[in-house]
Amino acid sequence: VKKLKLKTTEIFNKAYTKYGIAAFNVFNAEQVHGVFKGASEVGVPVIVQITPVARDYMSPNFLEGIINAAGSVYEKAVYSVHLDHGNVEHCINSINSGFYNSVMIDASHEDFEKNIEITNEIVKRAHDKDITVEAELGVLSGVEDDIKIGAEKARYTDPDQAVEFVKRTNCDSLAVAAGTSHGAYKFKGSAGLNLEILKRIQALLPGYPLVLHGASGVPQDEVLRINKAGGKLQEAAKGINYDDLLCAIQSGVTKINIATDMRLIWTRVHREFFINTPELFDPVIPGRKYMEELKEFVKQKCQSLIISKQ
Ligand SMILES: [Zn+2]
Repeated sequence: VKKLKLKTTEIFNKAYTKYGIAAFNVFNAEQVHGVFKGASEVGVPVIVQITPVARDYMSPNFLEGIINAAGSVYEKAVYSVHLDHGNVEHCINSINSGFYNSVMIDASHEDFEKNIEITNEIVKRAHDKDITVEAELGVLSGVEDDIKIGAEKARYTDPDQAVEFVKRTNCDSLAVAAGTSHGAYKFKGSAGLNLEILKRIQALLPGYPLVLHGASGVPQDEVLRINKAGGKLQEAAKGINYDDLLCAIQSGVTKINIATDMRLIWTRVHREFFINTPELFDPVIPGRKYMEELKEFVKQKCQSLIISKQ
């Protein structure tokens, strides 16, 4: 296994309140290419993250091989590799594989005490091997991997519980529910990011890195282009507001998860290719365009999350 570039905790300490570290979900070779190429041109670290569905889709060894290859091809990329939304089994496998710098144990659907117990077990195993652990408290709505949570089951993270949770589990970062959701349909009506929750947690846990899931921007023009090329996405779909994102970074959000925006680019590039050139049947043409556009997206996203490099 190739030695990875940076420990996740080092990345967090450097970034806290200065810039948000974008964490990109990858499922295939084109995405890994695009993310690493973008990362090699920005000069800030990125996190490459893998969900259990991504591991299952490509097979863990295959995906790890692609990422290792990208690490050698794009030598300037500074990155760490993270397991996104693991259960106990996924986390233990990933910790033992030696490939991951960090894992997320997601027991947020359990009650508070059970979440602490499960998280604790993973933290002990991970810290034994110098691996960083992200845990989650509170429940986000939307679709993550193959799990769908309705809006009625979503609940905000309670700041006092967050403090107790971090002290009792010793987890290194905490994913919080503060109004974002997974998937393309993040905010309905006037709902948005609840910055008060983040600020209260920051006041109680100064310097402690928080993680924002479901933080894609879902650009309107992207949605409109997809629909113009035959898609049927809800046009009222809205992602996170950019100013809110910068406030979130200043309020302790250090890792920002991006998956939906990458899927929107994939969908738009392929839909437009098929509709504009129905006589063609070449995967290389849209594949190349997707990698190039993804690279640009990764660059712009990372740069947009920098408040100051000092
Ligand atoms: Zn998530």
